[in-house]
Amino acid sequence: AILDRHPRRPESLLQVLREVQEAAGGIPPGVDAEIAAALNVPLARVRGVAGFYSFLSLEPSGHYRVLFSDNITDRMLGNQELMQAMCGKLWLEPGRTSEDGLASVDFTSCTGMCDQGPAILVNGWAIPRMDGGRVDQVAELVLAQRPLAEWPRELFLVEDNVRRADVLLGHGLQPGDALRAAVARGADHQVEDAANSRSWREANVAAAQGPLATLEEIKRSNLRGRGGAGFTTGFKWEACRNAQGKGRYVVCNADEGEPGTFKDRVLLNSHADLVFEGMTVCAYVIGASQGFLYLRGEYRHLLEPLRETLARRRAVGLLGKSILGQAGFDFDIEIHLGAGAYVCGEESALIESLEGKRGIPRNRPPYPVSHGYLQQPTTVNNVETFCAAALIAVQGGDWYRAIGTAKSAGTKLLSVSGDCARPGIYEYPFGTPVRQVLEDCGAERTLAVQISGPSGICISADEFDRRIAFEDLPTAGAFMVFDNSRDMFEVARNFAQFFAHESCGFCTPCRVGTSMQKEIMDKIARGQGTKYDLDQLGQLDRVLQAASHCGLGHGACNPVLDTLKRFRPAYERRLKALTFQPAFDLDSALAEARRMTGRDDAGAHIRSES
Ligand code: SF4
Repeated sequence: AILDRHPRRPESLLQVLREVQEAAGGIPPGVDAEIAAALNVPLARVRGVAGFYSFLSLEPSGHYRVLFSDNITDRMLGNQELMQAMCGKLWLEPGRTSEDGLASVDFTSCTGMCDQGPAILVNGWAIPRMDGGRVDQVAELVLAQRPLAEWPRELFLVEDNVRRADVLLGHGLQPGDALRAAVARGADHQVEDAANSRSWREANVAAAQGPLATLEEIKRSNLRGRGGAGFTTGFKWEACRNAQGKGRYVVCNADEGEPGTFKDRVLLNSHADLVFEGMTVCAYVIGASQGFLYLRGEYRHLLEPLRETLARRRAVGLLGKSILGQAGFDFDIEIHLGAGAYVCGEESALIESLEGKRGIPRNRPPYPVSHGYLQQPTTVNNVETFCAAALIAVQGGDWYRAIGTAKSAGTKLLSVSGDCARPGIYEYPFGTPVRQVLEDCGAERTLAVQISGPSGICISADEFDRRIAFEDLPTAGAFMVFDNSRDMFEVARNFAQFFAHESCGFCTPCRVGTSMQKEIMDKIARGQGTKYDLDQLGQLDRVLQAASHCGLGHGACNPVLDTLKRFRPAYERRLKALTFQPAFDLDSALAEARRMTGRDDAGAHIRSES
């Protein structure tokens, strides 16, 4: 039945596997071969994809799979203790499926609920605000084997927590407003050009140029991508429109996996029409007929509401054939759900994933604007970028450019979490100082702020007058606050664990380097580190910067180096010595060999030189 819901194409592979996982708690033996035959892909590819994504499993992972979000903000709220309590209630060990196959409990990377953590996923469905009472409740429901559909709905209630709205969150647009504005602007442009045309051919060319008027507004606005890289949106759209290809695609990157980021969750929950409107304006400008929204697997709860919004838009002619009655303006959107792979937030990895493959970043160039989905021209933008584009289609580029700073036009949504009284979503014009955000969210005695997630930047109190802007502190949206009770070494260690877990393993420098970084941080935490280890961390950064294949590897040492620079005493007080010390006791490690050989004489021991 699952296969019947999907086109029999290789691109359907990930979506089919995800649905099988959800229905059966794993990919049962034999089903992988059935899927391979149905989609006409090698069995090795099916297994390779199933093994790549952390939410898929070739081994049974229990009728109930409970995953505790393990971002640093979840840890600060006690997720480790809650996880132990859950394991105790269910009589199982972390990371192991119970003997009877009923349940498994494990950790997963940040689930995007940092404003209402600690959070868990049960079979992919988010339950925020975990505490002792909720642990008991969930454990009882699992032990009673109550189907998830019968669990109390309030358990799954995810709040928006919007604390400050500006032009985007307070937009007031109705579905279709941005599209009507774009089409009307195009018609004016055509009339003007047609009036100046000297021939039928010139008039036809003029008709095809209508969307250029909206493209000009997007360019004039100076809108830059909100996913982190900050590339100019208008130029991206223009390059895609001008690229050669059989078809064009619009892709919305809703895979916000950066720990500490959750603003796209709110946009998709309460402003889905604006997201789809921005995608459709983009399709109008670049000439695309198909779009995809790639939704992170942790936001499973948003899938059906988003599909309902798409259905409503189709019913009123805002998607489908001849949108707004415009002949030839055909566009529709599919939603693909991710399956737990942070690297898929990188746009070329996301496209690989959309094609049903493992999410390995591609070599670039060529870039997606010319060789994206199925090697065709593709525009990939973040959720927030599409929302801003829809606003610009209505209000114009000059209006938007007047907000923010000269190099950072418009507003930015921040996902504020950590040590503050009012975590949630804050929208500010670019150029707002960090100090202002801290005041608004009720942060006190703040020691540090991690901006833009682990791969971003960590700043200390003497830098709080710095501003949120591409020219100062660029951010995809995460804003994690740490007060002076926090140990910044442990913060950095959590981020090092995150990178080691999320490295896709494709290239050796990142695969090995992120593991080495984690090992060194663990060694320092055990009190076995030396100054040599601190130097090694710097060396690792140089290797990863120079030799990694994608941005994950390039940024993997940022949190450790930032905290080492600003909070060095947090590291040094854990060091065993300022000279080299072995990371482990070699003589003890040889005890097993001595036992097996029956030797315990002096020659079978490593002599200490000291
Ligand atoms: Fe994968 Fe890391 Fe290499 Fe990127 S840098 S391709 S995440 S192994």
